[in-house]
Amino acid sequence: MAQKSEIQKLKEEIKRLKESAYKDELSKLYNRHGFKEEAEKFLKEAIAFQKHPERRESFLVKNFALTIFDIDNFKRLNDTYGHRAGDEALKTLGKLILERIRDIDLAARWGGEEFILGLIGANENDAYNIADDIREKIAETKFKYDKKILKFTVSGGVADFSQAKNFEDLFKLADKAMYKAKKQGKNKIVKSSKIA
Ligand code: GH3
Ligand code: MG
Ligand code: MG
Repeated sequence: MAQKSEIQKLKEEIKRLKESAYKDELSKLYNRHGFKEEAEKFLKEAIAFQKHPERRESFLVKNFALTIFDIDNFKRLNDTYGHRAGDEALKTLGKLILERIRDIDLAARWGGEEFILGLIGANENDAYNIADDIREKIAETKFKYDKKILKFTVSGGVADFSQAKNFEDLFKLADKAMYKAKKQGKNKIVKSSKIA
């Protein structure tokens, strides 16, 4: 029995280590590595479907939409209220994202104040609707830090696999759309298909 509990402990330790290698402690979402590992499974199918649309019956995942969010004027928030206030904003965004997406969908903190969503089976329109809900929710959410009531906004770009051949392509499209949203005044989501 003692042996079994040792094995159990090891299993739990492995699970914990795996989770910490995959997760971003601050936002509670995946980190970049975790996102890539998880997305890989779905991307393979979505790519295969793009190549063989005539075999649509044999694919469970036919599309995959990507959303990239970037917090607006985050440097200003950090500079004005401190790095820990910025960290609170990152936590708040992580929480709001998790509340809005399905269990099967993937969400990660890609780096710094940039977040990414992988929506399984979704097209650009679906992704836009979800991203815009999240954007709106954030704009109206206040968080407390050091007795101050603070808020922030995000800009985002969305694209889906019908516009791309691989993950890198898809990422570039969503990123370009996100930059367009910044240029158009921020607190906005832009569809990749709507830009030249
Ligand atoms: P824009 O609206 O164009 O996105 O401007 P911005 O200020 O959000 O963008 P910029 O790239 O100038 O600044 C990003 C800031 O994010 C700078 C950096 O200090 C901060 N940052 C990156 N990682 C973290 C973190 O883990 N915690 C905190 N608090 N800040 C971070
Ligand atoms: Mg940024
Ligand atoms: Mg930013």
